[in-house]
Amino acid sequence: MDTHIINNEKKRLEPIDESHCIFCGKKLTQKDKKKFYVGMYKETGRTNYIIKRSVSYQAVIIGAPRCNKCRYTHIKAGILYNICACLFLFTSIFSIIAIPFIPAFFRKSLGSEITGFSILLLFLIIVVYMLIKFPGILLKMRDRALKIRNKYIKKRHTLTPEEGVSKYEITKYFLQEGFGFNKPNP
Ligand SMILES: [Zn+2]
Repeated sequence: MDTHIINNEKKRLEPIDESHCIFCGKKLTQKDKKKFYVGMYKETGRTNYIIKRSVSYQAVIIGAPRCNKCRYTHIKAGILYNICACLFLFTSIFSIIAIPFIPAFFRKSLGSEITGFSILLLFLIIVVYMLIKFPGILLKMRDRALKIRNKYIKKRHTLTPEEGVSKYEITKYFLQEGFGFNKPNP
C-alpha cells in the first residue's frame, strides 16, 4: 500500500503526507497535520449461549488525509449538530409535556376543580405518550439536525465525513472485504 504506512504502536493505517484531502480534493500543506481516522469492523464469529452472548470481530483504523479547513468545517458542523439536536429535543419534550395539560388549563380557567386523580391521570398519559412517541421523535430530531449539519458542510464546498470515507479508495477496499463502519453488537 503506497498511500499509507502501518503504525504498529497505534495499530492503524496512516496516510502519507503528500496526499490530497479526500473531502475537498486540495493538496495537503505542512499545516495539515491531523488526519481523519475511521474505524472499520468485520464480524468473524458469534456465540449465543443462554446467559452469555459474544461476538468476535476484526478491526482496522484507517487514516484519511484531511486539510485543516475541512477539519474545522467538520468540527463546527459537529457543534452545530449538537446544538440543533439539544434544541429540538428540548422543544419536543416541552411540547409533549405541555399537550396533556392544555385541556386541564382550559378546565381550570373555566372554574372547575382539578383533583389529585386527574393530575395522576394526566401524568400517566404523559408517560405512556412519551414511551410510544419518543423513539420516533428522537430519530426525526436526529435526521433534522443531520440535515442542517450537512447543509452547513455543503455550503463550504466540502464533503461530510460519511461521504468522504465512503468515496475513499482504502475504505472502499475494506468495504469490499466485508468490513463496515459499525462495531458489531453482541
Ligand atoms: Zn479539505
